[in-house]
Amino acid sequence: MNIILLGPPGAGKGTQAKKIAAKYSLPHISTGDMFRETAASGSELGKQLQSYMSAGKLVPDELVIAAVKERLLKKDCAAGFLLDGFPRTLPQAAALDKALAEAGKKIEKVISLTVDEEEIVKRLSSRRVCLSCGATYNLAGQMPAKEGVCDTCSGKVIQRADDNENTIRKRMSVYREQTSPLIKYYTDNRVLREVNGMLSVEEVFKKICEAIQG
Ligand code: AMP
Repeated sequence: MNIILLGPPGAGKGTQAKKIAAKYSLPHISTGDMFRETAASGSELGKQLQSYMSAGKLVPDELVIAAVKERLLKKDCAAGFLLDGFPRTLPQAAALDKALAEAGKKIEKVISLTVDEEEIVKRLSSRRVCLSCGATYNLAGQMPAKEGVCDTCSGKVIQRADDNENTIRKRMSVYREQTSPLIKYYTDNRVLREVNGMLSVEEVFKKICEAIQG
């Protein structure tokens, strides 16, 4: 099964992607995670990627498309995959469809998570993430038992550099202008299923599973 998780920043894509990947045994492919990993390596490419991310801008399509195509060729994607944070532009969606068609594959479901803008700003400004395993925490409620240390893997828990109000607003406007047209694209392709991302994590997950199986 080939699935895309679509939604604005802070809609809960990362959290839900981990649960979906575990339940359906799919590799979880997050372009944001891929880019943060490269950025952390400190290479020239990593520095370039970091400058786009810190500004809340999108990484150029050619770079993103090449990285995803290479990732999709890996063996673990043969029986299906879950894309989180890709595609984010119409050219990315078209390039993905073309690459899949050449391999005799297609996208079967696109799950679109919807969340109010003010809720997004609230969620992202209080979000904290584990640098090692990607577990997410929230200042408003669920924080690690020991400050700054991940409950799951003992990794370092930090605030993402792009989770500040200015960059969040910028990422939201990028989403509205460049990514939201994908909702129409995938509605026209009849693979889109909308899920209300304002519900609890478990309720959202249940609705996503119904959408995947339905
Ligand atoms: P995310 O973790 O999905 O919120 O992504 C973090 C940042 O990585 C984004 O704000 C972009 O700068 C970059 N990024 C991730 N995925 C893409 C993509 N598909 N196209 C362009 N830039 C991306």
